[in-house]
Amino acid sequence: MAYLIVFPDHDSFSRVRTFADERRPAVEPVFPPEFCSDLVAPCLRVTGGITGMVEELLANGFSVSGTIEQSPLPETRAHDSPPLDPLWRDVLGGLRLAAVRPSLTDHRRLRLELVPGNDLSQLIPVMARFIRGGAFVPEIPSLAFEEDFRLLVVMPREIVISRADHLLDAWIMIRTMVDLICSVWERRDSLLPETKQRRGISAIEIYRRLPCTECRRCGATGCMEFARALITSRAKLEQCLPLMEGQYPSCLTSVQWLMRVLGLGKLG
Ligand code: SF4
Repeated sequence: MAYLIVFPDHDSFSRVRTFADERRPAVEPVFPPEFCSDLVAPCLRVTGGITGMVEELLANGFSVSGTIEQSPLPETRAHDSPPLDPLWRDVLGGLRLAAVRPSLTDHRRLRLELVPGNDLSQLIPVMARFIRGGAFVPEIPSLAFEEDFRLLVVMPREIVISRADHLLDAWIMIRTMVDLICSVWERRDSLLPETKQRRGISAIEIYRRLPCTECRRCGATGCMEFARALITSRAKLEQCLPLMEGQYPSCLTSVQWLMRVLGLGKLG
């Protein structure tokens, strides 16, 4: 069995790498396949057990975002991909993988945060026309859409892939996103930018980020009904008292982020 130990940022990753290398020969950094060779994932793959390892890292002052079990990956699929069109560097101005962490909505899956070198503000409304589904907020602009169980979000300076199944899936999703952005860029003169806001994301995306205690302190019959009320602007996030009382900080961060992406306003 293999595990990923993921770190909150590249600094933590670089510091811990030397430390881990000296102790565990079975620890290795994770390099993406060639099509995104500019990217380095801030995580280590550990083959065998990790008993005590995270505790040892924490005891030595390192920050760790979490660990994720990894089943053996079908590596060939990634390497079968044709090379990327070199155009991608001009369109995106490079792409930095800023963070890999356990998904807040499914700890067995990965969340990736990527930073494009170019501002994508002009391209996102065109992407929204091209994709049609999903949620689009012209003021940001932001585009969020679901791909099977994953959530993909594009903002001017950030691309987020939530709930990638494993690392190979993550690389494939990055590749899919880069291909999509390049094809929209090539069609930009024949597509009118989208101007209307739309909320084509299911309420379950909000529900997954709520504490899910079903306590009804928000006045709804449960967390799912509250999520539906939030997504249709019939409720305010402040009504979920467990969130506001600070008992679920990671849920609060996650739901606030999603509400911002969906143009549902900030906390008052
Ligand atoms: S108050 Fe929050 S946790 Fe309780 S039922 Fe409502 S949404 Fe769920």
